[in-house]
Amino acid sequence: MRIAIQGTVGSFSEAAARRRWPDLEPVPCREVQDVVACVREGRADAGILPIENSLIGSVTTTYDLLQEAFGDGTLRLTHEVMLPVHATLMGLPGADLAGLRRVLSHPVALGQCRIWLGKHLPHVELVSAWDTAGSAEIVAREGNRGLAAIAARQAADAHGLVPLAERIEDDPSNQTRFLTFTRADAHVPQSANGPFKTSLIVCVDHKPGSLALTLQAFGARGVNVTALQSRPERSKPWTYRFYVDVGGAAGDPRVAEALEEIGALAAELVILGSYEAWPDGALRFATPVPTPAHYVQKPEIPLVDRRRNPAGTVVAIGDREFGGGTPVLIAGPCSVESEAMILETAALVAAGGGDMLRGGAYKPRTSPYDFQGLGVKGLRYLARAREETGLPVVTEVLSWEEVPLVAHFADMLQIGARNMQNFSLLRAASRSGKPILLKRGAGATIEEWLMAAEYILAEGNPNVVLCERGIRTFERATRHTLDLNAVALVRERTHLPVVVDPSHAAGVSSLVPPLGLAALAAGACGLIVEVHPNPSAALSDGFQSLDPGQFAALAKQVHPGRDQRAKVLKAVNSEP
Ligand code: PEP
Ligand code: MN
Repeated sequence: MRIAIQGTVGSFSEAAARRRWPDLEPVPCREVQDVVACVREGRADAGILPIENSLIGSVTTTYDLLQEAFGDGTLRLTHEVMLPVHATLMGLPGADLAGLRRVLSHPVALGQCRIWLGKHLPHVELVSAWDTAGSAEIVAREGNRGLAAIAARQAADAHGLVPLAERIEDDPSNQTRFLTFTRADAHVPQSANGPFKTSLIVCVDHKPGSLALTLQAFGARGVNVTALQSRPERSKPWTYRFYVDVGGAAGDPRVAEALEEIGALAAELVILGSYEAWPDGALRFATPVPTPAHYVQKPEIPLVDRRRNPAGTVVAIGDREFGGGTPVLIAGPCSVESEAMILETAALVAAGGGDMLRGGAYKPRTSPYDFQGLGVKGLRYLARAREETGLPVVTEVLSWEEVPLVAHFADMLQIGARNMQNFSLLRAASRSGKPILLKRGAGATIEEWLMAAEYILAEGNPNVVLCERGIRTFERATRHTLDLNAVALVRERTHLPVVVDPSHAAGVSSLVPPLGLAALAAGACGLIVEVHPNPSAALSDGFQSLDPGQFAALAKQVHPGRDQRAKVLKAVNSEP
């Protein structure tokens, strides 16, 4: 294969190209645009372009060439290559550091060695050249012992020079990323399974949120953005084009959907192409996401169906097991109101015999004028409460954009009744990998509820706990009507564990204990109840919140004998 490279023989581009094509025949080119022209005109079978260095950043000359080179479809990107870059200072035989007057290299290479040069050759003149190996060639040609070049070690051998200092780059992890390409009709084998990356250029208008829209189109679908670079638009001062690299090929359903969305709203979208990613490049940081369920064949038996796991699924959070035989009692305030308040509530939940702590940091309120939760502060306070009590935390997430944030702090994500059919939220919550507490919508049928759970399972997360929390009926005497039919019925229909929230069902605290016990009798594997140190002062749902005494009494009934066991254990442990 004849491969066009920027620079002469012995350059880093050649070394990178040899990682892909060990037996290549190099076709040296002066500048990156000559590399492109060389392949376009058929003087080489493929070409390689340096695109980014891990120390210095983007190779802007390459970026500025990409649209022209790949925007018209004549050429096609094929592979990404990562090359560890070690810089060698080289000179004529007999040269030494003390005698050097000038050091030549490509500006990117000089930039990578700034620390070493500043320390060892502070008075030497640094001269930019077109390429690294080309500088070695100049030093050899000039025959002057006062000259040296910085280039790859192999350039010294190629041009009859000797190394004066090796590995002088500022950081040993130094790497450069290259892209290889061919003419669109040329056959260059690629692995069928990738992994692939896609590169694109997006030009956006000066409107709030227009760049975010591009990133969100990928983020909402679990597609990883691996690089983002902006370059000024030459003929339009203060406007920019954004270069985006993402994981996945342009034909992958998720990437294709995102590109369609961006294409509809961006001022301009140029898809530069998809190519095989280097195996230990940026993609290794991202968790792969399954293809969306509507692009694959519908399973004969839904994933939620009991027949898929007749023994019943157990969802474990530490040593708490939903569906494991012992009921799990989740308790806490409707909203996290302050740090002191959540710490106090957590302590009373732990002391009373609760297994997990609940508390909303983001609240779905009927009125926009009501307290909306403390947001991130609330999440931090919940994490603090977990630290102090050891109780795992479940908290609600309201929108897909906030999933990573809430998942960072919570042990379990709650999808609230109002969001049961918010499908982008269900997918994003699933991808977080955290167990999900899926509340039934107040107006949702059992079938709709199970299909919402199916969304989560289909996106790859098996840890779903259903939660019946009352439905809206003609009855106005209570906030909602607890549907115990549903509890008993879903146990037949699905292998997923189901818990009950008697607090939101009843809307009044006195009904919570009897409804909770009835739910356990109907087959619920746990309860989630609202508790407040002082219910009459609660910022939300005070009327239905248990006070500390009511909670302790309920906990005793949910975990009969636990108190007794604790006493026995204490007595045994304190025996001399
Ligand atoms: C809550 O748990 O505080 C809550 C808002 O619940 P639901 O979504 O069931 O109304
Ligand atoms: Mn509530």
